[in-house]
Amino acid sequence: MIFETPGNFDSSNVAPSIPSDDAFLFLIRGNEIATVLTKTDILKIPCFRQITKYGLRILRQHYLGTLRGTPCYASEVTNEEVTSSEIHWYGLRALFGRLDDSSFSLAGRSLQIVDWDRSSLFCGRCGEKTILGEKERVKLCPKCQQRHYPKIAPAVMALVSRGDEFLLARSPHFPSGMFSAIAGFTEPGETLEQTIHREVLEEVGIRVNNIRYFSSQPWPFPHSMMIAFHCDYESGTIICDPHEIEDAQWFSSQKLPSRLPGKISIARSLLESKLVKNESDL
Ligand SMILES: [Zn+2]
Repeated sequence: MIFETPGNFDSSNVAPSIPSDDAFLFLIRGNEIATVLTKTDILKIPCFRQITKYGLRILRQHYLGTLRGTPCYASEVTNEEVTSSEIHWYGLRALFGRLDDSSFSLAGRSLQIVDWDRSSLFCGRCGEKTILGEKERVKLCPKCQQRHYPKIAPAVMALVSRGDEFLLARSPHFPSGMFSAIAGFTEPGETLEQTIHREVLEEVGIRVNNIRYFSSQPWPFPHSMMIAFHCDYESGTIICDPHEIEDAQWFSSQKLPSRLPGKISIARSLLESKLVKNESDL
């Protein structure tokens, strides 16, 4: 699964002193990532050697670390750069299932780091131009000393179970027929557990208990971290928050919604883990 730790990647922000033509280049143009096709029609992240011939104007570049020993960089170019039949530009969602899991994960990381860099050119506190830290990935303000780290917004997802049933809801902006687990952003000062209690109560009027961690997934659209949990129904009847939830129902493995969340998402894995458990209980 994409949200498991890729054991073959070592993160670092200190680039090797000697650049390598074989280094992977996660090249960003707007919100798209450059890929190349192998002779067997497999999409891959290009290496520097495949890109340098275009004479790119790099706006910003960050070292990411090594993937299976090969250095990786995230670089941003202007929207006009690289129009070639050899380079294929895709948004991150379109690359799910087409890149290997490690490359997909690093593509998301690259987008987040580039977005953080271009969004923190000036200090949010005093307006001074920031400078890039050397020892860690941070922007420093030379005037007021404020430190600007990459933004990560934690959000929880909760699959509420009641025996063999589970609660799914749909937001008005979901595709037709799709239901998913309850989700929401953590507020300042909240624990993840408090977020679950609040969000489930606010969105569907249900109280829960027995919260169990499931897994987490960086969600770089643009900078969330989705942290998923199982929990159990305690009390209440479904009352949907009309501003956020269009419909919410108890489903089961015999009664599933017509459309499930996409396989890219942790919501799908969370739901499938419940379905597998129900089958193993039979
Ligand atoms: Zn400042």
